[in-house]
Amino acid sequence: MRIDIISAVPELLSGPFNSSIIKKSVEKNLVDIYIHNLRDYSVNKYKSIDDYQYGGGAGMVMLIEPIDKCISKLKKERNYDEIIYMSPDGMKLNQQTCNKLSCVKNIIILCGHYKGIDQRVRDNLITMEISIGDYVLTGGELPAAILTDGIIRLIPGVLGDETSALTDSFQDNLLSHPVYSRPKEYNNWPVPEILLSGHQKEIEKWRTEQSVNLTKKKRPDLL
Ligand code: SAM
Repeated sequence: MRIDIISAVPELLSGPFNSSIIKKSVEKNLVDIYIHNLRDYSVNKYKSIDDYQYGGGAGMVMLIEPIDKCISKLKKERNYDEIIYMSPDGMKLNQQTCNKLSCVKNIIILCGHYKGIDQRVRDNLITMEISIGDYVLTGGELPAAILTDGIIRLIPGVLGDETSALTDSFQDNLLSHPVYSRPKEYNNWPVPEILLSGHQKEIEKWRTEQSVNLTKKKRPDLL
């Protein structure tokens, strides 16, 4: 899979992508991530990518031309399954969307800034708009990193044990069961006896019950 991220502040993405599982998945060639600096596509000598909004009002708008130049160049090189704009008014990100996007070949993720991007980009170039929640951040880079992480961890070979992602919360509309590790007892807080029993069938039954009960308690809307 290939992910192209278009950003006016690419350095914001170096942290999330240069460590841990995402870094390893790139090194193992399981995913290619390319970050494009929008300023390289600026059409003026000041490398600006924003301007005042027509009609007046507070906040700058990201210009159509640098974005169009960058997206057009990428689209000439390959076909993209989705061109995604990270936006607070987009479709709220969930596990189903991550599952779906983890199965496609090429996506572009556009990060906004300031007041957002010229509406004509959204109307004519963007195929999908995704929000990470009902709050507003300063830029789309952290949302893009969240989306990328949510997708990449589902690609076969990225996680050590491929079944792990399938037993996480929100797959099957359930929250995950609780997990424990050594020691068996700490501060008089014991690990549930069943997990030490060795009866795998009983353990699975217990885990499913825990998942269902936790979902009923914390997120009944999922059931
Ligand atoms: N004027 C926009 C509005 O009211 O919806 C907010 C713009 S925000 C300050 C700047 C950029 O950050 C957005 O264009 C978007 O790319 C990104 N962003 C902020 N919050 C986000 C969220 N909850 N989900 C996805 N992207 C977000």
